[in-house]
Order: sequence, then structure tokens, then C-alpha cells
Amino acid sequence: MRCFQADFIFPIQTAPLKNGMLITDDEGVIVDLGFPEDLAQRFPDLHVERLQGLLVPGFINTHCHLELSCMKGQITRHTGMAGFVSEFVSKRAAFTDQERAAAIVKAEDEMLRNGTVAVGDISNGNSTFSQKAKKRLYYQTFIETFDLAPSRAPEAFDRACLLREELIDLMPETRHQVSIVPHAPYTVSPELHKLIATYARRHQLLLSIHNQESRAEDELFRTGTGKLMEMYERMGLDYSWFKARGESSIHSTLPFYKDNDKLLLVHNTYTAEDDLLFAAGAETKASRQKPLLFWATCPNANLYIEDRLPNYTALLKHNLRITIGTDSLASNSTLSVLDELKTVAHAHPEIPVDVLLRWATLNGAEFLGIDRQYGSFEMGKKPGVALIEGAGPLAFSGGWTSRRIL
Ligand SMILES: [Zn+2]
Repeated sequence: MRCFQADFIFPIQTAPLKNGMLITDDEGVIVDLGFPEDLAQRFPDLHVERLQGLLVPGFINTHCHLELSCMKGQITRHTGMAGFVSEFVSKRAAFTDQERAAAIVKAEDEMLRNGTVAVGDISNGNSTFSQKAKKRLYYQTFIETFDLAPSRAPEAFDRACLLREELIDLMPETRHQVSIVPHAPYTVSPELHKLIATYARRHQLLLSIHNQESRAEDELFRTGTGKLMEMYERMGLDYSWFKARGESSIHSTLPFYKDNDKLLLVHNTYTAEDDLLFAAGAETKASRQKPLLFWATCPNANLYIEDRLPNYTALLKHNLRITIGTDSLASNSTLSVLDELKTVAHAHPEIPVDVLLRWATLNGAEFLGIDRQYGSFEMGKKPGVALIEGAGPLAFSGGWTSRRIL
């Protein structure tokens, strides 16, 4: 058995314990938690490991692109989405397969060290599959599809199915951990959305989509103009079906997925109050028993690309299930969930630490459907244990770091 005592323990489901104690078995399963005066009698012989800092369940990173790890430091900051994409495409080709594979291992090592236990990871190819098969972390893989041309939807979808089968062949028992998902509202035709939604319903798979990440996306859906429309034209894409309706992209996306199980909306940087009301309306349809929407925020990537953060005040006001993502090393300098929390806390010191920690742990575990094991310190769970250390008051600040201790 292991017995940890820390300045604060955050069980997540219940109130933080100042000078609390956490007892696990040798495998990391939670045996008990509480205050030392209550636990000392029941476990008199245990060696107490005293820790300075906050003890929290392992972090859940709900949005990552491990396959892009070789792109760290390659792309200019603050160029907006269209600028990001064009620089990305030109620079990505320069890396060899060996360089890409080495960067993937290094990035996964970083996540293991910083206390991450589960990752929702986007895959466009198979470059991460052999690493995932080592099962050092829990992965939900989102095989990403995109193609604007309705006529090519079946082809794009079949490609994703083949990739899904390739990963399942490596890890046959993790079939439910491999989804097929749309990339973003501005890269997927209605036909492709329908194929994805039907398949996900039939196989009960989780869904994820990049949502309202850039100013250009908003402009495209509202007015049919802007940098993304210019990109469509420059690349000669077939977007003949597209009609600007004076509404933001979430209005066109959600109807396709209203009968699905769970959908993670990623970024939401330009999501406005009326979008949140629209989303709430989509969720409260009488037929729906379970929550549909989870909202992933990747603040460091938002600052990297668009130099803007989502409207957290509105997200909190509407009581949304918020989760944390790091996005990829193409638009972030670390894959650290804590670094994302620090960025939110810096902009919004009024958000309590326990609220931020719930985004980083239990909310993500609930989205991934792994909250029976992960996301909180509760008896019988094996959530992983991370320590947040650093000097300063009980609010996240620049100096805090995290590491996995169990
Ligand atoms: Zn992303």
C-alpha cells in the first residue's frame, strides 16, 4: 500500500482536503482518503510519503494530435487559421518518417511525466499506431476525415474505415476506442457528415469536431467571404453546396449529430452567447436521455494561432461540460494539461482552482466514458496520481509544474 499526505488533495467529486491523506494499494487503486487524524488509526503501520503541493487525479487531455509532434516550433505564431494551414502544409513534408516517429515517442514521454493518463487523439494517418499499441497511456483515437466535395464523400469515408481497421488489428480489444470523426465544419460536406453520424450511431462511437476555431470560419458561415473562402477558390475546391446563411458554423454542424451519443466541440474560440443557446436547445430535445455536448478548450493553441481565448465567462454561465485539450505541438510548446489551466487562470483568476481541475480530470473522463476508472479520487478507482508543485498561493501561476507520481 502507499500513503500520501499533501498540502491539498483534490478528490474532484468532493471538496479539497487541506493536509489530506490518500491511500492506494500497490497497483494505484484508491483504498481511502481523508484527514490523517481519521486514517491513522485504521492504517497505523503505513509509511507516510509527505508531498508539498496539490495531489490530483491523472489528467485527461481530450484533444491532441500526437502525429504532428515533429512540428514543434516550426510555425509562426498569430497568423490566423489560414496562415497556419498554409505554413503547416509547406513545412510538414520536410520531416522523415524516423524524425516523425521519434517526435511522437518524445511527446508521449512528456505526457506520461506530466501526469496525463488518457488522451483523445486525432489521427489522419497511421504514424502513431505502433506507439499507441504499447498502451502506455489510454487513447481514444479519432480518425479524422475531410473532403468538401459531396461526390467524394464515400471515398473519404472508406479511407477512414480502412485506417480504423488498421488500428483495431493492432489492438482488437479497443474497438470502441477508435472513432471516425469530421475535421471541421468548413472541411466536410453534408454527405460526409451524414456517413460519419450514421456510422457513429451504429457502432456507438464518440465524436469530436473542431468548432469555431478561427475568425475566418465565422466569416465563411455568416457571409460566404473571408480567408477560408479565398482558400477554397485558390485550391479549386468544389464547395458548390455551400450557402452562407448569416449564422455561425455550429448552426450547420449540430443538426447532423443530434441523435448521436456524445460530441466534443473543440476550441470554441469564437462561440458566442447565441451559439450556446442554440446548442442548449439541440441538447434538451425530449428524446435525449444523456448529454450530447462536451466543450474542449485548448487555450495555448488558441493564443498561438489566433491570439484570442474563448469566452470562458459565457461557457461557465451556461454550465457546460468543459474539458481540456493541448492540441498539437504544431501550435503549442508543451502537451501539458496544467499549462492549459495556467493560461485560463491567468486570464480568469476568478475561476476557482477546483473548477479548473474538474475540466482537466473528471469532465474529460466522462466524455471519454472512462470515469469508472479515471477522473477522481474515489474508492475503487485507479485514476493515476499527479502532483502539482510550485511556490505561491493557492491559484495556478507560472511557476507551477506537474508530475506523475503513481
Ligand atoms: Zn486540433
